[in-house]
Amino acid sequence: MAIKVKKATKKEVEIIKERFLERYSGAVTELEYKNLYELVVAVALSAQCTDKRVNLITPSFFAKFPSPKELAQAPLEEIKELIKTCSFFNNKAKNLKAMAQRVMEAYGGEVPLDEKELKTLAGVGQKTAHVIMIEYAGVNLMAVDTHVFRVAHRLGLSQDETALKTEETLTKLFKDNLQTLHQAMVLFGRYICTAKNPKCDECFLSEFCKTKESFKAK
Ligand code: SF4
Repeated sequence: MAIKVKKATKKEVEIIKERFLERYSGAVTELEYKNLYELVVAVALSAQCTDKRVNLITPSFFAKFPSPKELAQAPLEEIKELIKTCSFFNNKAKNLKAMAQRVMEAYGGEVPLDEKELKTLAGVGQKTAHVIMIEYAGVNLMAVDTHVFRVAHRLGLSQDETALKTEETLTKLFKDNLQTLHQAMVLFGRYICTAKNPKCDECFLSEFCKTKESFKAK
């Protein structure tokens, strides 16, 4: 069943796309990382956790586990201790260790830069794999997190109930520059079109807003 929200017209979609691209050309993730391994860890930690908190955790994490090799061999309790201020740290610790073990066993210690291969790693689903491919390789892909989902629905770009369906819809609507549009919608949702008390007076898309209701992705 679709979420009831008025659909943006073709013309509106075009203008929304143009404005996002104007405002956020060159936007990148706020997660701090130095290589692909660090990006995978940071993105995995960022699920249900703010980028700010992840950036506080990762310096000591990477000092202790500078590559998949050290992480694969680490006692689970040590991993948990380092990430305990992050939500769902128990599960994340297990997944990070399993991810590193697979990278060691199947890929000789090099994280694979390939969507299909990434999805074989523990804790890496489609959204995480897409975020990694967008950020690290600038691939034309959409990824839908809580911000993108909310923004897409408020602007009438999607009526879908799930994040995956919304990803499909946005991909079809926007077609190109998806990597920049993803970053744009994340930043717009994080700083302007926030879940509670959106800053509508600062909004450069207010004439296209269909509802200020807060939508949550399934
Ligand atoms: S007008 Fe407000 S709720 Fe609507 S898109 Fe802009 S910031 Fe979001």
